[in-house]
Amino acid sequence: MVVLTRPVSELDEIGTTFGLSAAGQRCVYCGELTHDPAILWSGGEGSQIYIHAECVDNFCTSLLRDMRECLTL
Ligand SMILES: [Zn+2]
Repeated sequence: MVVLTRPVSELDEIGTTFGLSAAGQRCVYCGELTHDPAILWSGGEGSQIYIHAECVDNFCTSLLRDMRECLTL
């Protein structure tokens, strides 16, 4: 599941969207602190990665390059 994060100030009182802020997290690609909005990707067993929107293009390019290399081995 991929969602956009939101600042804590925009979360509702009962916390329906609690946990979706990227504040204090690190971008999986560049390692810098993330800020809202960012992209949150939840894996199959509860793992979560945060990534800046600006980093997605380079991340995907690198991922595709590695995938192609892996498939040719
Ligand atoms: Zn980044």
